[in-house]
Amino acid sequence: MKAIVDEEIEGYAADHSEVLSSVYWRLQEETFTSMSSPSMQVGRVEGRLLKLLVQIAGAKRAVEVGTFTGYSALCIAEGLPADGTLMCFDKDPVATAVARRYWAEAPWGNKIELHLGDARALVQQIEGRIDFAFIDADKSGYRLYWDVLVDKLRPGGLIVVDNVLWSGRVLAPEQEDDHAIVAFNRHAAADRRVEKVMLTVRDGILIARKR
Ligand code: SAH
Ligand code: CA
Repeated sequence: MKAIVDEEIEGYAADHSEVLSSVYWRLQEETFTSMSSPSMQVGRVEGRLLKLLVQIAGAKRAVEVGTFTGYSALCIAEGLPADGTLMCFDKDPVATAVARRYWAEAPWGNKIELHLGDARALVQQIEGRIDFAFIDADKSGYRLYWDVLVDKLRPGGLIVVDNVLWSGRVLAPEQEDDHAIVAFNRHAAADRRVEKVMLTVRDGILIARKR
């Protein structure tokens, strides 16, 4: 991932955000030393933003599509009340085994349930209303995840989508995933079910609120 935001500025912003508990630092360290695409991890600034958004939305039931080694899940779960639940979806048993170890260490990790398998099928089986959703899995699946999850969101609930600026490639799409993101962004921008803003945080995030 080519950084859109200057690295030094990103570090400055992180250093002036909420201080992290040590479990995040250890998870980041293990992810960067043992996984092949560690920069998929949302990191400090976006992670603290996710936690704040969950708190501001007063969310109790949350969904994450694309969990990897569990960093963003830990942030979302930290923002939930003690009786809140985060349903996580990922198909990678190796990355999510790392996630489970760190969730077990954090006092708020017991709010997280992992559903291992193809999220395209699994998200359709979520029952009842949800208050918060974070989409960060396969880019060609974004549109499906969005349509299903916006439908399940309660009015006033939030949906957050990661990598919507895709290292800037949305301006000159070439590869299949570039085109998938561009098509998704157009679809979401026209979706009247939600009110939204696209921000240049990290690799671009879309934040939308169900009407
Ligand atoms: N949010 C994570 C990063 C997610 S990376 C963090 O902050 O660390 C994207 C993840 O999506 C990968 O772990 C990959 O296994 C998962 N993924 C991709 N396609 C998927 C699919 N069809 N179903 C479930 N998970 C999928
Ligand atoms: Ca991402």
